[in-house]
Amino acid sequence: MTERKTSVVVLGGGPGCYEAALVAAHLGASVTVVDRDGLGGAAVLTDCVPSKTLISVGDFMQRFEAATELGVGFEAAHAGEEATADASRVNARILALAAAQSHDIEQRLLTEGVRVCRGVGRVLAPGRVRIESESGTEDVDAEVVLVATGATPRVMDSARPDGERILTWQQIYALKELPERLVVVGSGVTGAELAHAYLGLGSDVTLVSSRDRVLPGEDADAAEVIENVFRRRGMTVLNRSRMASVERTGDGVVVTLEDGRTVEGSHCLLAVGSVPQTAGLGLEEAGVELTASGHIQVDRVSRTSARGIYAAGDCTGVLPLASVAAMQGRIAMAHALGDAVAPLNLRGVSANIFTDPEIATVGYSQKDIDEGKVDAHTVMLPLATNPRAKMQNVHDGFVKLFARKGIGTVVGGVVVAPRASELIYPVTLAVQHRLTVDQLAGTFTVYPSMSGSIAEAARRLHTTE
Ligand SMILES: Cc1cc2nc3c(=O)[nH]c(=O)nc-3n(C[C@H](O)[C@H](O)[C@H](O)COP(=O)(O)OP(=O)(O)OC[C@H]3O[C@@H](n4cnc5c(N)ncnc54)[C@H](O)[C@@H]3O)c2cc1C
Repeated sequence: MTERKTSVVVLGGGPGCYEAALVAAHLGASVTVVDRDGLGGAAVLTDCVPSKTLISVGDFMQRFEAATELGVGFEAAHAGEEATADASRVNARILALAAAQSHDIEQRLLTEGVRVCRGVGRVLAPGRVRIESESGTEDVDAEVVLVATGATPRVMDSARPDGERILTWQQIYALKELPERLVVVGSGVTGAELAHAYLGLGSDVTLVSSRDRVLPGEDADAAEVIENVFRRRGMTVLNRSRMASVERTGDGVVVTLEDGRTVEGSHCLLAVGSVPQTAGLGLEEAGVELTASGHIQVDRVSRTSARGIYAAGDCTGVLPLASVAAMQGRIAMAHALGDAVAPLNLRGVSANIFTDPEIATVGYSQKDIDEGKVDAHTVMLPLATNPRAKMQNVHDGFVKLFARKGIGTVVGGVVVAPRASELIYPVTLAVQHRLTVDQLAGTFTVYPSMSGSIAEAARRLHTTE
């Protein structure tokens, strides 16, 4: 006699979905993924993957500028030539790369026996889901439903994107020309990353920030480094400048600030936050509680308030990162299907801002320490004294470590450096496994290396108290 399989339906195609679908398939469930826009979701098709690819092109261009400081010249080889980015080709490559990754994800799911439906799903009741696709309407049983429908760029009436000159971050890859004068509204992670990318590509960039400094939610020392680098490289950063409206003016745009000042540009990129895609999914009717902002309320094993309905990713508003979405999805399936499960631990999440230098963080922040949430010592080492940094002409950046007073366990850290996204891993390991600064300091690093600064910071936190 064959055992009956638990039926699982996942709504959405992003990292909150596909990782969960794989776990569910491995645990023996019968899995259907209902996805509207293509596997990989916004993460792969419009947000994370395209933006990081664009940034890598901007960073490559920036290296030409830095080359002269290293004694490298291009005069003889290409007299009079400047490195330029061809927006059409850059964007075509980005979209092709995203499509290929989406295809790979779909193939992987199909190989694992997951049914993939291109369409729109909604919950009819706990245990029942409706799928609307080109081939018609289908109602399916779903003992377990995972909602991972993500979020979409926030749009304001006073600044309506037109897809040509007033753009959301999802529309920029359709551009055939590089924006000559780009006004980026919003200095959070998305605004800062894309302002940095376009500066590297050769656009004249103005960053409009409503706060006292860019990256207001991040480590203040790290944000200061980035703001200084932005200005030094020629970006205009307007702090304490809240956008009131954005309008088209023939061949350009005009951004009006709340205090009446105006900023003109050829294009405007809006990076003013996201809203969850939870409307019209039948959630509240099925007993799923939403927050005032429309996010789905979940616990640490991704359960909603309705039995059998789980949620993961940006639609939950827990922490808008692809890695967190994937973890929430995996946890949901492990819990629903009776596998061993460890509840979501946000203290162990490492995150990165892909500017140059990058900013990577994990664990408790400086703000948490200042507010007394944890009793910790702090050490901050500028990278300027690191031998590898000197060789590589790296002037900006630092390593910061936080260690609990008394026992010396590493509780958090910030790395501001080229490829900080890679360098944060040893700190993440230390935070996750409660290593002490002495254990970190006693571990060999390569000489010369940037990671030497992490061990050195740990050494300076050694205490004999
Ligand atoms: C510009 C930008 C850059 C980013 N860079 C990074 C990064 O470098 N690293 C990182 O970790 N995170 C990054 N993020 C965040 C990351 O993209 C999100 O956290 C991640 O996409 C969340 O995944 P998700 O599965 O919740 O949803 P999504 O990736 O948004 O996928 C949800 C999918 O669900 C589909 N859908 C919606 N409604 C329905 C429905 N009713 N039926 C069927 N399908 C539906 C949509 O088509 C959508 O594609 C970035 C975000 C932005 C905006």
